[in-house]
Amino acid sequence: MIGLGIETSCDETSIALVKDGKEIISNIVYSQIKEHEKFYGVVPEIASRSHLIKINEVFEKAFANTSLTLNDIDYIAVTTRPGLIGSLMIGAQFAKVLHCITNKPIIDINHLEAHFYANFLDRKVSPTYPFLGLLLSGGNTIIYKVSGLNQLEIIGNTQDDAIGEAFDKAASILKIGYPGGPIIEKYAKKYKKISSNSYFSKILKDSKKDEITFSYSGIKTALLYLVKQNSNIDLYKICYDFQETCFELIIRMLKKAIYKTKINHIEAGGGVLANQRLRELLDNLAQELNIKIYYPTQKILCTDNGAMVATLGYYYFKNGYKTNLEFPVSSTVI
Ligand code: AMP
Ligand code: MG
Repeated sequence: MIGLGIETSCDETSIALVKDGKEIISNIVYSQIKEHEKFYGVVPEIASRSHLIKINEVFEKAFANTSLTLNDIDYIAVTTRPGLIGSLMIGAQFAKVLHCITNKPIIDINHLEAHFYANFLDRKVSPTYPFLGLLLSGGNTIIYKVSGLNQLEIIGNTQDDAIGEAFDKAASILKIGYPGGPIIEKYAKKYKKISSNSYFSKILKDSKKDEITFSYSGIKTALLYLVKQNSNIDLYKICYDFQETCFELIIRMLKKAIYKTKINHIEAGGGVLANQRLRELLDNLAQELNIKIYYPTQKILCTDNGAMVATLGYYYFKNGYKTNLEFPVSSTVI
């Protein structure tokens, strides 16, 4: 069974072809980073205009080095939520036009759910439930309990900024570029640890014993005042300390979620999972607790992409689900 996946929820225009939810035939991702970098963040109007300009080219590339044509696809999976409305509409309308041409069913996808299916695609396995879904991206910092298709219960969420957003804002304050995550990671790697004192030792420490919650606006503000008040900040050290402190909170909350739910199977996804240090910390935790923690081994599957959309679509399609053609798009999960 061949699925076509369309993803335009934020700043990636992506279309993929996936076979049986396990094999990537193509996964074309056009990133808009260059268009947003001078603003240090995604500008919604620029994002939707860019999707409109690029989507046909991305579509053609998805078929370019394959022997497939539109007639060979069995379903069209498209992200309809959550995301930037103008951006979602480009992908959704594109799906509706493909439906007009092919008469193939459309599957509307919550791309937050799809992130976990990137891992099943990556490992070429079918999903097993329940698992804890750890989603760390530019817009979300969530731990879900996932009990089946469309069965996601939020166990922990951020009270303010998302972790990726915090990396982006920190890099903007430090004036080191956009997106912040990979740049902060690069600077952090260069720090030769000589002191166990952290710039952020008093931050992110307090939370009630069994409360699973994230907050990243405090560390961002702390960083802002450190930079304002000190002219000789060690850039490598501040990036290192910032990264370590942000990830320490993730590991602490993930541990709590594991103890609370007694679920020993974790699937992690989202752009922040591209971070090598985070991957190492998750591997260490898996070893320490003797549990399974997975993340996409291919970095292209961490961030938003059409292949994960097509993969989740495959499981809905197999279950007989198809979308009413009057489907809406939504900035939230409805
Ligand atoms: P997404 O929202 O899933 O498209 O992912 C984009 C977010 O992931 C941005 O906020 C990036 O700063 C962040 N990100 C990307 N690569 C890394 C990295 N290596 N370390 C930390 N964050 C990252
Ligand atoms: Mg993105």
